[in-house]
Amino acid sequence: MQERYKEELKNLFGIRFRRLLTITNMPISRFADTLLRQGEYDSYMGLLVNHFNPATLDGLMCRDQISVGWQGNLYDCDFNQMLDIEVAGGLGIDDISSFSELAGIPITTHDHCFGCTAGSGSSCGGSIDETEGRGLTAGKAA
Ligand code: SF4
Repeated sequence: MQERYKEELKNLFGIRFRRLLTITNMPISRFADTLLRQGEYDSYMGLLVNHFNPATLDGLMCRDQISVGWQGNLYDCDFNQMLDIEVAGGLGIDDISSFSELAGIPITTHDHCFGCTAGSGSSCGGSIDETEGRGLTAGKAA
């Protein structure tokens, strides 16, 4: 795929690049609306679920990062922030004196999380692994 993109972008637009990086398109917001409209939401979710890769779990950004909304609301990641899914307990920035207080709190997961755990992951780090498995159990790192 990289070679084809290199060739087409060079020929059509004169664009050159060294490396192609791909990420999973998260089934949320506008993309989810498009999938639903086209009747493809279930098959896309099935694709993500069937490509669950446990090797992505340690690299999930929700394990050691936090998103802070402009009103001080806390979210496990920016995807959850877009969906207004707050951290467990609905804590806000004024409820904590240190981010270390969030260590160990359960991460709020939803269907879209399979976008982070399929194949090599989305914006989360990950690797391709043939190991089979499903389910997501995780908590914030200390
Ligand atoms: S797995 Fe879920 S909570 Fe974690 S980064 Fe991905 S979307 Fe956010």
